[in-house]
Amino acid sequence: MIGVAEWKERVESEKCYDLVSEMLERIERSRLNAYITVIENEALRKAEEYDKGELKGKLAGIPVAIKDNITTKGIRTTCASRILHDYVPPFDAHVVERLKAEGAIIIGKTNMDEFAMGTTTETSFFGVVRNPYDEDRVAGGSSGGSGAVVAGEEAVMSLGSDTGGSIRCPASFCGVYGLKPTYGLVSRYGLIPYANSLEQIGPMASSVEDLALLLEVIAGKDARDSTNAGRSFEFKGQTEKKFKIGVVKEMGGNDEVMGRFSEVLEMLNGLTDGEVVEVSMPSFRYALAAYYVIAMSEASSNLARYDGVRYGLASELDSWSRYFSKVRAEGFGEEVKRRIMLGSYALSAGYYGKYYLKALKVRTLVRRDFQKAFSQVDVLISPTMPSLPFRIGELADPLTMYKADVNTVAINLAGIPALSMPAGFVKGLPVGLQIMGDYFSENTILNFALMLEKRFSETGLIED
Ligand code: GLN
Repeated sequence: MIGVAEWKERVESEKCYDLVSEMLERIERSRLNAYITVIENEALRKAEEYDKGELKGKLAGIPVAIKDNITTKGIRTTCASRILHDYVPPFDAHVVERLKAEGAIIIGKTNMDEFAMGTTTETSFFGVVRNPYDEDRVAGGSSGGSGAVVAGEEAVMSLGSDTGGSIRCPASFCGVYGLKPTYGLVSRYGLIPYANSLEQIGPMASSVEDLALLLEVIAGKDARDSTNAGRSFEFKGQTEKKFKIGVVKEMGGNDEVMGRFSEVLEMLNGLTDGEVVEVSMPSFRYALAAYYVIAMSEASSNLARYDGVRYGLASELDSWSRYFSKVRAEGFGEEVKRRIMLGSYALSAGYYGKYYLKALKVRTLVRRDFQKAFSQVDVLISPTMPSLPFRIGELADPLTMYKADVNTVAINLAGIPALSMPAGFVKGLPVGLQIMGDYFSENTILNFALMLEKRFSETGLIED
């Protein structure tokens, strides 16, 4: 992987233009299918600007990839759906404005599950993303492309979005770092919604330092998102800190993953700068079910706007009702249709109280469990995913796929921040460690990750 520091070093001796051309060639040759759109000419033009000393800012000359559900002015933004396959937004998302203001080179739009609904990127209209460590396996989802481009050196950093794990899952499966910020820290303006109350845009990168840098750029006040907290973020190193670490009893995994996780725990137990305790969170039993009821309910309402009239796929003009059904039947994939139907059902009169309202109550319990835990510990840890990256086609039925999100969804229900960092390999495949913190404690979890990153490399624990 190429981090920011290494890229900057290389740009000193070689031209940014040549390095970007090299990256574009690598993308062209790549079998990962990580990009939906590559922004070749504009990327090269920006690199030239950098070489002339005209591009300034915290990310000047750094190639950054953006998930294809984040709007880019004048550049196709598809959500990996047929219904938006030719949609060209007239505006930039807040995060894209921020990247541009800091001199980043936007190199392309990354592949994802259709409308971010999935855990494997297999629901994409543009085909599955392959795992950089094993091309017969998935890169995770829904930000599979954003994970794969970092691991495959097809970008230096990327942006993903996380509604129930979509940054952390591909980070885990691709052996990179990914952070879901506290709800409200990063503006959602220009993020095409799946489930508004759950999702955040967040950074993916090859080190803790780069993750923090990208978060600094995208976090901040924005009046166009009514749920924006109006706070900015600045990374502050706390090298002397002693951490109190909680291990969530209810978050586990299969033997392969747990074997690795136990080794990490053993290492943590031996640390002088940490103390490990077990934490139990009883509401977790219901978190997965509550997440899917809430996410699908919000999705069913959000996706009502795709009617083939204002934007996206169009069809032969017919009677109005037939027109809508035709466009939506042809434009949406199976998984998206399933969620629209289940979400509409959960919100319908007679079932609303039984499903949606009940799920909201569980959400409150999950929040309380986290609050209680964070009154006792600084960070909570768990495996990010309960298994190694799946083989392509392995998750044949939707329920099995939903179950793979068991360790990540509770974080979105509560709105707290969490990151996934590489914690070594099993059978040549990456395993991710999830680190969770209290609201707006990004500095704490990044510092904890930084400490671990150092220990892992000192002890050789994350070598393949
Ligand atoms: N896999 C989860 C879902 O399908 C999470 C997706 C996401 O975070 N966008 O809902």
